[in-house]
Amino acid sequence: MAFSNVHYNNKENIFCQEVFENLPQHIKNKRIDNLCGSYNNYSMTVFPVENHRNREDGSLVYPVYSRRSGGLSIGINLFPDKKTCSFDCPYCEIFPFTTTTKFTVKTLKDELTHAVNNARRRAVPIRDICFSGNGEPTLSPHFEKALEAARDIQKKTAPEAKLVAITCGAGLFQGEVFSCLQNAAASCDLDVWLKLDAGGEAWYRAINRSAIPFDKLIAKIKEFVGVSPATLQTMLCSIGGTLPSDAEETAWNDLALELAKTGNVKQFQLYGKARPSSEDPFAEAAPASYLEKRAKILGETLANSGVAVPVSIYS
Ligand code: SF4
Repeated sequence: MAFSNVHYNNKENIFCQEVFENLPQHIKNKRIDNLCGSYNNYSMTVFPVENHRNREDGSLVYPVYSRRSGGLSIGINLFPDKKTCSFDCPYCEIFPFTTTTKFTVKTLKDELTHAVNNARRRAVPIRDICFSGNGEPTLSPHFEKALEAARDIQKKTAPEAKLVAITCGAGLFQGEVFSCLQNAAASCDLDVWLKLDAGGEAWYRAINRSAIPFDKLIAKIKEFVGVSPATLQTMLCSIGGTLPSDAEETAWNDLALELAKTGNVKQFQLYGKARPSSEDPFAEAAPASYLEKRAKILGETLANSGVAVPVSIYS
């Protein structure tokens, strides 16, 4: 399906924010083959929804179109030289890579300022500045300084953009990271997108493959959500040809409700696999109908308990 004002397969054309926002949701959410945008005269490529691989080239900052952000998201990568994460999700979209680039706060400031200026020149709204990159951002020793730098640039040059940190929760075991996220969420409107892929240990072992014991991680997530606002994000896909069992669905739903009852859950994001991963096809996209089913069950559970938290699907 083609839209007259969207240019496919042409890296010289801008994929406008306005165009993105006017696309039907099912097109926004789908893989749009080879849809790329570039800021022609300003040497910044914005990568499309289905390809966020540019962070593997050593970049500390990588502009992408993001389903969950709903437009231009400027990603921050604290691990330009090596993937660093406590999880080993089979759906992880970070492919093996090698660079010698080292992270410095100064380079981050330069690259982020450049990316914001490029968006400004093209009058493209920036939906968020997002810590994600090649691993778990809160495990970086530079995380706090980088957050400070990004916040400063965001406040001065892109106040319309949200500040987001995507986290699997592993960093919460460090007291200083816990406090940093809690304080930032309270004082600078950092939106913490916290991973909650599993409600039970068996699925956690399959989908996250982390050495962190499941019960300890969930206890830490409960502790954090008990004192700080967070968006909970859940990947729904099949692993080794299997979707979550009925028991897992029930356990996840119960856990989601328990967390929502704290009053600190801003949103549930149920998202599907939209980009390739190095273990394909071990992890595979679930049908959109599956995500809809899970969202419906959660929505009804929340409503029946009188808890008002939005549930969003990104299939
Ligand atoms: S938590 Fe994120 S970065 Fe870490 S393995 Fe999973 S998908 Fe990859």
